[in-house]
Amino acid sequence: MLDEARKQELEGALLSFRTTLEAGPGGTASWQWLEDGASTSQKSANKFLLCSYIDYRWRDTVAPRKVIQLVEQEFIDPDDIWASIRAIPFECWNHSFSERPMHATRARHNGVWELAVRMGRLFHDDARELWREHDLQTTLGRVSDDLLFGPQTSRMTVGALWDEELVAGVADVKADLHVRRVTGRLCAGREFSVTEATDATRELHPANPWLLDWPLFRLGKNYCLRSGPKCADRPVRHACTLGGGRSPAVS
Ligand code: SF4
Repeated sequence: MLDEARKQELEGALLSFRTTLEAGPGGTASWQWLEDGASTSQKSANKFLLCSYIDYRWRDTVAPRKVIQLVEQEFIDPDDIWASIRAIPFECWNHSFSERPMHATRARHNGVWELAVRMGRLFHDDARELWREHDLQTTLGRVSDDLLFGPQTSRMTVGALWDEELVAGVADVKADLHVRRVTGRLCAGREFSVTEATDATRELHPANPWLLDWPLFRLGKNYCLRSGPKCADRPVRHACTLGGGRSPAVS
């Protein structure tokens, strides 16, 4: 449970920082391959889903580069990228990890091939099937339970779809290392667990915790570093337990 007064202060600070990010260069840009919103093509939707599976964040570039290399340059940009992946025998795909890894881990690299199988079997090779009802919780269940994205990557995926108004509902933050560290330092002066970060962000902005994801991630990536936070002049310092010397917000 968070102290009510501190909660409002922290919520205000994070939403204010989000507004600053939105006003910055590219701040209102769409997620890559979802720029066409409801008119997103099968080809673009599939590239977005593959990119989400190998984990990309707002404007981070490694995963999109991997997708472009495989889908656009190697496969020559087909509508059905899953069929192209399945056409590669699994042993060959496994072997390709050493030459063209789709992820830092072999397990996730091979997971791309298994994802292609599930997409064919469950969703007709069309990622748009995941959000056809426009319902966030239904889509989250498909991404998490049917496609086995993992809980945090699933949250990011549906959060991106919410940003582009392709699903409606309330989404949680992706409680990764950055988000856990910043949420914990802000609220309690220490890193939070996944559960603590999820609960805290639900309390901080119950209308839609996902809106806190971007400011928390950017703070963690750019300022609130694991090895030592750069607190001076940071936008949320006045509200922060660790950097601002405030009393913990947790009771
Ligand atoms: S004020 Fe310091 S400790 Fe607090 S969120 Fe910012 S960088 Fe992290």
